[in-house]
Formats: sequence, structure tokens, C-alpha cells
Amino acid sequence: MKRFTTLFLAMLGTICLTTDANAGRYRTCNGDAVVLHGDPTTRVSTISFPVGSTAREDLNNTLDHWNSMLGMHLEFDPVVNFSGNYRLGNGRNEIAAQDISGLGLTTIQLDACFWWFESQHIQEFDIEVDSNTAWDFGAPPENTNDGNNSLRYTAVHELGHALGLLDNNDSNTASVMKQSLKGESWSAGAAFSRMHPFGDDAFTARSLYPHSNGHRDIATSAFEVSQTTQNVSETMANTTIVVPNNGTFTVRGSFSNLGKTTENFDIVYVLSTNTIISTFDTVVASGTGTAPPGSFHTFSWTGRVPNSLAPGTYSLGLILDPNNNISERLEYNNVALLRTRVRVP
Ligand SMILES: [Zn+2]
Repeated sequence: MKRFTTLFLAMLGTICLTTDANAGRYRTCNGDAVVLHGDPTTRVSTISFPVGSTAREDLNNTLDHWNSMLGMHLEFDPVVNFSGNYRLGNGRNEIAAQDISGLGLTTIQLDACFWWFESQHIQEFDIEVDSNTAWDFGAPPENTNDGNNSLRYTAVHELGHALGLLDNNDSNTASVMKQSLKGESWSAGAAFSRMHPFGDDAFTARSLYPHSNGHRDIATSAFEVSQTTQNVSETMANTTIVVPNNGTFTVRGSFSNLGKTTENFDIVYVLSTNTIISTFDTVVASGTGTAPPGSFHTFSWTGRVPNSLAPGTYSLGLILDPNNNISERLEYNNVALLRTRVRVP
């Protein structure tokens, strides 16, 4: 993020917590987490998907999302040259396209859970994604819940199961372990950062595979979770509102902490003459946020159009840590293009 220099006014707002941190669900045996056995580098074969294919690219993208988490002692290591056919119980972790009734299915082979053993392990996982689904490949839309089935979303969810995470449909949780979601873009920003496990997922996975490495990463989002329906919707409607100079309007956005320590940071909303949101744009609201690890917040502030802003139609965006005070693992997920446009008459 470039240094932020514009000094327009700011209207401070309050932040409300909308989801719990640490709410993830995982499999247990005698109260201990059930985790993948042995080598923290866990090989994965993506045998059903040729190298260079779009589906293969998507699977690699989602593997990278789990792998890019520091402070987590596990890595999926894709292997392409396994011989033989896909099969459950062959001792290999595989991802395959199969004719199944749902979108995705993860089968895990567990050793026994005996009370005198200290722990139980996942010996093998096999992920099947449906071969008959009309998948959306690639990154989902930046700020639109289009309701389509995203291969990346399904893959990142099923890989969560491979790690030992369970479905989590709690209404107050923002997690890729929700079953009802189809592929909304949780983290905003660049295309390759979307469909990242969210704060809750990162927090829970790290608790299963702990590592002392630090990890700092806040991410914004153009989406929020309904507490009543647990569905995801855009924080701002797809419409153009007319706001005169010095007029006010409501801005709404979300952020999450994918890292390991509580973060305090600045937040600005900006109006942009194009759809590229940056710190060169005109600030219409600003304040601060606080995010414990794993948390997801949605908040509303009041924005004000500066007196000096020229007439025209502007895009609305949200930027976390505009002064780049936090040294983050990923900086490109700090910016979200929101759906509402603002016309200054
Ligand atoms: Zn599931």
C-alpha cells in the first residue's frame, strides 16, 4: 500500500462485532483434535486434473491458500506422477472428479480412537468434486454474490475437512466451512487472493497444527454474513446513489484477521474515478478497527462527499491500513471495491 497523503475529513464510527473468533469445529478423540498423521508436508495428488487445465490451476490456488499460512505446521505438497487409478484406501491423498450427488465429498481414513491412545490421526484423505456440476472456474467476482458454484470454494472447503475441520454452519461464523455458500469472494483484492480460508478457518487450522512462526494479515471484504439466514450478501447494494457536495451517505464493509495477533489499524473509504481503489483516491470516511485473530467484523459508518469534489460518477472502495503501518503477509487483500457507485451532481 502506498503512503496515504490525502487529508480529507473523516467521520468516525463504531465497530460492531458480528462473528466470534475461535468458533471453528473439528473432529476429536478423547477430547484431543484429530489431525493428519506424520510428515507435516502431506503429499496430495491431483490425478484427475491435467497439469495446465483450469481445474488444476484452481486446485493449486486453493492448496496455496492453506499452504501460505505461516504459524501452521502443515503443508500440502502436490504430486502429479502417482501411478494407478484413484481409489479410496490406497494410502494416497487424492483429489478427483467423480460423479457424486453433492458438490464435494471428503473421505478420511482414521486410525482407531482408543481411550489409552493419546491421539487419533487421519491416515488418508480423498477429495471428490462433482464431475457433472457446471463449475465456475477461476476467481469469483470481486464484490458480487452471483450464486454460482465455485470450484475454488468447494476445494478450499474440502481441504478444510482433510485437515480435520468440520462443517460449521453457525449463523455468526464467517468461514469457508459453511456448507450453504457457493463461492462468494470472502477476501477482496486481487483475483489470486480470493477464496482464501477466512480468519476463523485460519485460527482453527493453526490450533490443530501449531507452529511458533508469526503471521500478520488483515483482509477486507465486500461481503457480510446474515445472522439470521447465515447467507452471505454484498455489504452495499448494486446501485448508484446521488449525493451532493457535503452530503452524507452510509458506507458498510467488513474485515477479518487472518493472522495470529490482535491488530489495530486505520480504515478509509474512498471515492475513485475508476474501479481501481487506491490511496490516491478521495477519502469520504475514516476511522480505526481492532481485530483479534480469527475475528470477522462488519461495520457501518457515515461518509461525506467533500465540497471540492468535481461532479461525476465515482466507484466506492474500502482500504485497511492505508498508511501501511502493519507489515503483512499479504498486502493485496486490504482493498475492496464495493458495489455502490456515488454520483455527485
Ligand atoms: Zn463440508
